[in-house]
Amino acid sequence: MKEFYTHINNKVYYTLVIIMTTLMMMGLLLDNPRFGELKIGYILHSVLILALVACLLLYPRYRNYQSRIIIIIVGSAYLYTIFFLYPDTWSTFILLCFIPAISILFFDSKLFYFSLILNGLLITVTYSYIMLMDQENRYAHMKSDLIGNVSNFIGSQVIIYCIYHLYQLRIKKQQLYYEQLQHSERLKTTGQLAAAVAHEIRNPLTAVKGFLQFYSEKDTLSSKDVKDHFTLMIDELNTAEQVISQFLCIAKPDKEKKMEIVNVQAVLQSVTDLLKSYGLVRDNTIELNVDEDCYIYANAIEYKQLMINIIKNAIEASKSGDSVIVQVNRKNHFVEMKVIDTGCGMSKAEVESLGTPFYSLKSNGTGLGLMICYHIVEKFNGRIDFQSTIDEGTTVTIRFPSNK
Ligand code: ADP
Ligand code: MG
Repeated sequence: MKEFYTHINNKVYYTLVIIMTTLMMMGLLLDNPRFGELKIGYILHSVLILALVACLLLYPRYRNYQSRIIIIIVGSAYLYTIFFLYPDTWSTFILLCFIPAISILFFDSKLFYFSLILNGLLITVTYSYIMLMDQENRYAHMKSDLIGNVSNFIGSQVIIYCIYHLYQLRIKKQQLYYEQLQHSERLKTTGQLAAAVAHEIRNPLTAVKGFLQFYSEKDTLSSKDVKDHFTLMIDELNTAEQVISQFLCIAKPDKEKKMEIVNVQAVLQSVTDLLKSYGLVRDNTIELNVDEDCYIYANAIEYKQLMINIIKNAIEASKSGDSVIVQVNRKNHFVEMKVIDTGCGMSKAEVESLGTPFYSLKSNGTGLGLMICYHIVEKFNGRIDFQSTIDEGTTVTIRFPSNK
């Protein structure tokens, strides 16, 4: 009832508790064959109602696993007590079947399995008692059709399990959807911000570059040194322009960027050739294993940019001498690429922060690489997942729909 309690407000929770209390009190006071008896059974019935109501009223204050277990145990004790105490009311057996359903409201899978197993054990004990010890035939309705009752009980447990399972699946799906939504919202906002800044910087850069080109062609610059400086300045400005264009493409998908059938093997070969020298600095090698005929529908330049970012990160995380494995497999409807390193790895919280703009743990990192990667993957209807363990390494899995 944790989520139940948080999402539906206090009023609804307490109204439900009041309704349940009223029903339990009606059972205790109205037309009860044991009403007024000062025997152990009736007293136990009353005490269990008080205990259950107290637990439910206190639960919002102590919302933890222990208090949930206590509610399930007290609830089970109450329902089994009324089952044994009022043998003529055969319908209490239905309530016994549905005890595990109560735990579904708490959104706690451990509790659900606990309740399912506990109820299975209690029903077995109950049946054994009725079959072996009940000489007076007080529970004749249970005895008369043993197989029917047992199979009904099992059937009800299977139904409850199915409901629980489907419910869990739906919740997980919603969580995933919510995370993806948050992620793409974040991308959208940064994209817009980046575009605005990049746009403002591009114009002054173009002006400066134009003037530099103009002066570099003038004969007055006779000295070779000065000419070299001009070439250097123009090159640097070209790099800056490239970075800005990259930013702009995040916000406004460039319509001119054509979609094509990309040969994964060829692109990855050129990426590994390019990064080979980068790995050599700390003696890291790249192992490439690609299935034949892996084709995807994307933009080759952007796909290359994506793989460079991911493999570069893997090399940067690796210890010296380790290899980075790039493995590509063709599955039925998609191409799956894995970039595996045995480097420093990441904690769960770090993995959750990936793709956030400017998130970087490196002294010279920009924290933009993965943001761009997420953007490219999303654009080509792919998926990217990180599996990482601290000090053991990281596996990045990227999937794209395959183009046969
Ligand atoms: P940058 O590489 O500039 O830091 P990225 O967006 O590429 O930015 O990566 C963000 C952060 O994610 C990195 O700083 C690093 O901490 C973490 N990271 C990415 N890939 C890996 C990996 N394979 N192993 C461990 N950490 C990684
Ligand atoms: Mg990087």
